Amino acid sequence: MIDKYPKTCNLCGGAVVYTSNAVIYGQEYGSGRCYLCTKCGAFVGTHKPRPKEALGLLASPRMRKGKRLCHELFDPFWRGKPKAQKKRRDLYLWLSKQLSIPWEDCHFGYFDLERLREAYRILLNIQGREMRYDSGGMIYFV
Ligand SMILES: [Zn+2]
Repeated sequence: MIDKYPKTCNLCGGAVVYTSNAVIYGQEYGSGRCYLCTKCGAFVGTHKPRPKEALGLLASPRMRKGKRLCHELFDPFWRGKPKAQKKRRDLYLWLSKQLSIPWEDCHFGYFDLERLREAYRILLNIQGREMRYDSGGMIYFV
């Protein structure tokens, strides 16, 4: 599991401060807070209803890009679809099995660069394919 209250950076070991995210965005956005590495500048946002709780690992620009690219491939399978939240949950479960990781750890914000790359390759492989449910309620792609 990831540290939801990081004190040291998962990328460089530098000291992490809990601060206003205006230092990143120029104005406060979302929860208004973030965890920021004072050494390498990696950061992570926090939950809006629980502003002390980090959303994932501190991320570098490459990790943020990887996360965005993964979402671009992943989200169209559920977003705006009937039963979107169920589909989203089931897709994360499917992805966790592809990655051989526990379902509760399967969030793009929890992934390091290597796992983001692995997830991206898996998601590329299902582009243009159709998502279906088998009789056991599990997702597969045709
Ligand atoms: Zn750092």
